[in-house]
Amino acid sequence: MGTDFGSASEPGGSGRRATRSLGPAAGDVRLVLLGPPGVGKGTQGRMLADEKGIPVLSTGDILRAAVREGTPLGRRTQRFMRAGELVPDGLIDEMMSARLRQEDVRGGFILDGYPRTRGQAEALSGVLAGLDEPLTAALLLEVSDDEVVRRLSGRRSCPACGRVYHVEHQPPRNDQQCDADGHALIHRDDDRPETVHNRLEVYRRDTAPVAGYYRERGLLVTVDAGAPPDEVRERTWAALAREPAFRR
Ligand SMILES: [Zn+2]
Repeated sequence: MGTDFGSASEPGGSGRRATRSLGPAAGDVRLVLLGPPGVGKGTQGRMLADEKGIPVLSTGDILRAAVREGTPLGRRTQRFMRAGELVPDGLIDEMMSARLRQEDVRGGFILDGYPRTRGQAEALSGVLAGLDEPLTAALLLEVSDDEVVRRLSGRRSCPACGRVYHVEHQPPRNDQQCDADGHALIHRDDDRPETVHNRLEVYRRDTAPVAGYYRERGLLVTVDAGAPPDEVRERTWAALAREPAFRR
């Protein structure tokens, strides 16, 4: 493989290589990313999205943007966040639905962090059916629990833009600074080993049923993500290339 596709994937930044073999040539990509924390959903999502020229829709980003812009949905969300309460599923559904109707999503999208429950998966199916743009696949990235702990303990995040790095596998260009904006990277409490086990439990309880939902519908594509990001990306395109919805 060529150079590291990298963490700093601002559009146009690293230059798209036209000769990529397995590629994104075939049809529309409307993808849900699933997998345990630390499996590399963010990294893979960004790489796949850059190659296809489509947006990554992350629940966290969309919530933050709605709050920042003070939209009606954003103001409702903010009340829960201020009170330290979880934002209710229904509100997240509404916000994702509004986002999915925007123009830049018509060429495809990658969803990261949504749906998180079976109920949300059902809501998403309804929205996409209404748009006549069904999912291409739900991509489940899998690694062992031990690997999750190992990966997360090396993870560093940018507090400003949310970009995620890894001390070994995906270090920033400058020591401990975000490539995009230069902010000092942090080790989030969420990524400390003592909290990771808890996150894995929550994942199994809430998100594993989402994988089941897509398996029942013949949409689940599983990729072994125990490899460097470039290799996982190749495996992902290879797996998607076998999907009828992608070949169309
Ligand atoms: Zn940043």
